[in-house]
Amino acid sequence: MSARRLLLLGPPGAGKGTQAQGLVDSLGIPQVSTGDMLRAAVAAGSEVGQQAKAFMDAGKLVTDEIVIGVAEERLRQDDAKDGFILDGFPRTVAQAEALDGLLEKLGVALERCVAMTVDEDELVGRLLKRAEIEGRADDNEASIRVRMKEYREKTEPLVDYYRQRGVLAEVSGEGTIEAVAQRIQNALA
Ligand code: AMP
Repeated sequence: MSARRLLLLGPPGAGKGTQAQGLVDSLGIPQVSTGDMLRAAVAAGSEVGQQAKAFMDAGKLVTDEIVIGVAEERLRQDDAKDGFILDGFPRTVAQAEALDGLLEKLGVALERCVAMTVDEDELVGRLLKRAEIEGRADDNEASIRVRMKEYREKTEPLVDYYRQRGVLAEVSGEGTIEAVAQRIQNALA
């Protein structure tokens, strides 16, 4: 039996989104990507989008308050009842604590945090390549540098946070998509 309440943790460019998509197909549970939801909010011009846009363009984290609201609303939806793959949330200790509180209210718990590790030069190369293909507004060199710094300072402490809770699995994100997917599957078994 695979764990079904999952978090993919890792720096920008680690392949969280790609691997989350594979898990959606194999496990039949939704991907919850705050980055995707925020980009949709920006595109729709909603209030959340207007508040988030400047942070995102600069590569900075959007405020905890905004992101926690977005994630909570999504996790309360029916299709997340039997499991979910969190991708890009939580990114700060405050967000992780808010997630714990929400899951406790919902009577469930996070079963596995898969921390994906990739060498930093490889990450920057991947992000610059994605910039050419997808044209994401924040995939430029200045923003990439800020996002890496934000990750190291604010998000990396979550590796220890989840290790202490006994749900951490560390997985190399290098190699082919299939090889990484196999490692993740093993970590969820
Ligand atoms: P992503 O697609 O996950 O790389 O997210 C793109 C951008 O959205 C990030 O650089 C942040 O500006 C913002 N963002 C997404 N998720 C979060 C989060 N959990 N906390 C703060 N900002 C976030």
